[in-house]
Amino acid sequence: MQYDVIVIGSGPGGYVSAIRCAQLGLKTAVIEKYSTFGGTCLNVGCIPSKALLDTSEHFHNAAHAFGDHGISLKDLKIDVKKMIERKNDVIAQNTAGITYLFKKNKIDSFEGLGSFVDKNTIKITKSDGSTEQITTKNVIIATGSKPTALPFLPVDKKRIITSTEALNLTEIPKHLIVIGGGVIGLELGSVYARLGAKVSVIEYAKSIISTMDGGLGKELQRVLKKSLGMEFFLGHKVTGATSEGKTVKVTAEDSKGQAVTFEGDYCIVSVGRVAYTKDLGLENIGITTEERGNKITVNDHMQTSVEGVYAIGDVVRGAMLAHKAEDEGTYVAEYIAGQKPHIDYNLIPGVVYTWPEVASVGQTEEQLKEAGKKYKSGSFSFKASGRAKASGDTDGFVKVLADAETDEVLGVHIIGPRAADMIAEAVVAMEYRASAEDIGRICHAHPTYTEAIKEAALAATANRAIHA
Ligand SMILES: Cc1cc2nc3c(=O)[nH]c(=O)nc-3n(C[C@H](O)[C@H](O)[C@H](O)COP(=O)(O)OP(=O)(O)OC[C@H]3O[C@@H](n4cnc5c(N)ncnc54)[C@H](O)[C@@H]3O)c2cc1C
Repeated sequence: MQYDVIVIGSGPGGYVSAIRCAQLGLKTAVIEKYSTFGGTCLNVGCIPSKALLDTSEHFHNAAHAFGDHGISLKDLKIDVKKMIERKNDVIAQNTAGITYLFKKNKIDSFEGLGSFVDKNTIKITKSDGSTEQITTKNVIIATGSKPTALPFLPVDKKRIITSTEALNLTEIPKHLIVIGGGVIGLELGSVYARLGAKVSVIEYAKSIISTMDGGLGKELQRVLKKSLGMEFFLGHKVTGATSEGKTVKVTAEDSKGQAVTFEGDYCIVSVGRVAYTKDLGLENIGITTEERGNKITVNDHMQTSVEGVYAIGDVVRGAMLAHKAEDEGTYVAEYIAGQKPHIDYNLIPGVVYTWPEVASVGQTEEQLKEAGKKYKSGSFSFKASGRAKASGDTDGFVKVLADAETDEVLGVHIIGPRAADMIAEAVVAMEYRASAEDIGRICHAHPTYTEAIKEAALAATANRAIHA
């Protein structure tokens, strides 16, 4: 069989790309080394983490918020085994969905490790060691990423663990130490803090979620401390970790260079992810990866240095996000089919699924200041939102940043209830280059959390928020 496109990897980049290729009439095959499709996202990333976040949010609300509504419960317990089983069932439903979509779109799939023999021939090595080769006009590398390891801190996968093991714990930690105050560490830290664990976050930077707009990290830290009792050790450089029996010891240097020791029963190392290209045989076609982060270099059309070989998603530059991988997958399929697709990387939203949720799109205040751009800023607190008062979710705010002269929206930064879903309004507005006044004049249903976006936009336009 001669394919038009072979996709290596079936994560959100790979499977979306394969489906779009098939829709465009290209004969397509996908190679996946694991027995289920969906990659990191569906198996050990976005979906399972959100399943656990939902379970733990229900538990935490039942324990701490139901009382305010006059609902009382006796003997509230969490069944960890059931929680993990439910999460596994959610994964199974989603991965089965990809199998269905591949069949529906007549995409051939191969289970095994894909590697380059030459730029048009891919060898598939199956788990029993047998091999077969298939040929193609184009290849899309979508092999994703894996957790970064710290050379001085060996992960034993039992007590010193990565996000993958943290999604499968059989008990609630008593004291969970999280190394890294980024998205994954805070989401998984929240899961176990809501279920009763003491959680200490150790972060090298001066703030958590440090790549997002500065105000968001400060507010998130305040709320996680207040509502979940999470502790934060910022400006701390971790120097090592050891585990013995059920005890984990993590050593660090504080901002003054003083040695500090943390003792807990589990430690999640969540310091980032690195592109995954092992055993892909890139050397056989003359592709080298970048020294930092192991990424494959691509041009604006996602093409590598070899004609007809493309790379997308976590394995290339840019944010390691499922929706970015998906959009790149669609982009490459359409480009191969001769279309002229486009991605605006400035408008890829970033989300943290803690509670309150955090979501951002466009430029941060820090970026605008650094670029010397003149901007106006309008904020609206959820404390003044009728909907937030009704649900008891009054922490957080919306901030709209707009061009000082044209009023064009340059960035929207939200921390608050359902921020992850609300950010879509800002993305659409910015895609159509809306002004803050445009958003302020659009009718928003009442009572909804989205009214806070309208109010922040009004505040940015002419300091004329109605309810502030
Ligand atoms: C705990 C956690 C939570 C996350 N939450 C979110 C979230 O809420 N939102 C979000 O946008 N992002 C989230 N992410 C990030 C997201 O999962 C990734 O950005 C996304 O999965 C990247 O997609 P991808 O297609 O590039 O690669 P991946 O999803 O990593 O898929 C790559 C696939 O390629 C396969 N593969 C690798 N090498 C070969 C080979 N040689 N042959 C055959 N197959 C191969 C792998 O087995 C894998 O299935 C999360 C990540 C983690 C770890």
